[in-house]
Amino acid sequence: MTPVIDSHSHLYSQSYMDLLRSRTALPRIDERDGCAYFVIFPEEERTGGRLMEAPMWSLDEKLAAMDRGGFDRSVVSPGNPWLDPVEGPESVDWAHRINADFASFEASTGGRIHGLGVLPNAEPEAAARIVQEIADTDTLYGVITGCRICGRPFDAPELEPVWAALSRTRLPTFVHPHYAVAIDQLGGFGTILPLGIGFPVETSIAVARLILSGVLQRHPGIRLLVAHGGGVLPYLAARLDVSWRGDDQAQKRLTIPPSEALSGVWLDSVVYHRRALHAAADLVGRDRLLFGTDHPFFKDSPRDILATVADAFEEDPAVRDAVTAQNAVSFFGLPVR
Ligand code: URA
Ligand code: ZN
Repeated sequence: MTPVIDSHSHLYSQSYMDLLRSRTALPRIDERDGCAYFVIFPEEERTGGRLMEAPMWSLDEKLAAMDRGGFDRSVVSPGNPWLDPVEGPESVDWAHRINADFASFEASTGGRIHGLGVLPNAEPEAAARIVQEIADTDTLYGVITGCRICGRPFDAPELEPVWAALSRTRLPTFVHPHYAVAIDQLGGFGTILPLGIGFPVETSIAVARLILSGVLQRHPGIRLLVAHGGGVLPYLAARLDVSWRGDDQAQKRLTIPPSEALSGVWLDSVVYHRRALHAAADLVGRDRLLFGTDHPFFKDSPRDILATVADAFEEDPAVRDAVTAQNAVSFFGLPVR
């Protein structure tokens, strides 16, 4: 197998840790009995949060986990909820600091970790300027965003400057959930239902709104990587087509079927099952599926996650190697080794 690249991996960098420690509202770090606890979800107010262990913030631990998985390189992104809770010029300042952290990782890890940047929760024009700054930074390879930008859903007309900047720069844009959906219906089982169902559905809704509003058609330079295998979209794309065909107004906003628009995004492989991997690859093509782990979240072994992906495409080693490495090099424009 060719070298492996993990495209879905997070870190809470020093600046973001400083931000969390400075806060009393969610998200924040609470200190108890000499330990740091990470409190980001509302239900963690009641449970006291989870231990903020070294894999969440330490580059050395990230490299050790990569070694355990047999991964050569990782594209590492800021963890959720990014700068969503900080508004205005203060958010722009934090974006500069966090983006500087992530831009430094390539040099400090011997080229094994490539960073992504983050957008501020500010006026869309300010966020568009940060898009340009990230694109102009050689050691940042894209940007991660939650399912709202500048506090707005993806189809909000106010976001046009941001989409225009992402299209003009062709900056790889990783779409990732944080809030989940239907939280009232998903309660009662800890984080299993919010993370297992609420997260991927949140992403699916955000990307569907983006496509149905015609943003991707108007801005063909936008390059989206959708987390967790595109959520439920590989399964429901044809159903969206049927609904779209029955709606004249929808066909004016988006002139091609939603599934055709969806086939132009990239998906990660964080679905843990060959059937789901094949559905994701069927929607976008095997050249648009990128291996990922979601480290440091969940406790699955990185080797087992990789084995599931490699086994799913074992019948064609060229496809397997594309999914586990080369598709990431072409999507993010990583240095070729
Ligand atoms: N839980 C999180 O908070 N973030 C992730 O990316 C995955 C699980
Ligand atoms: Zn993730």
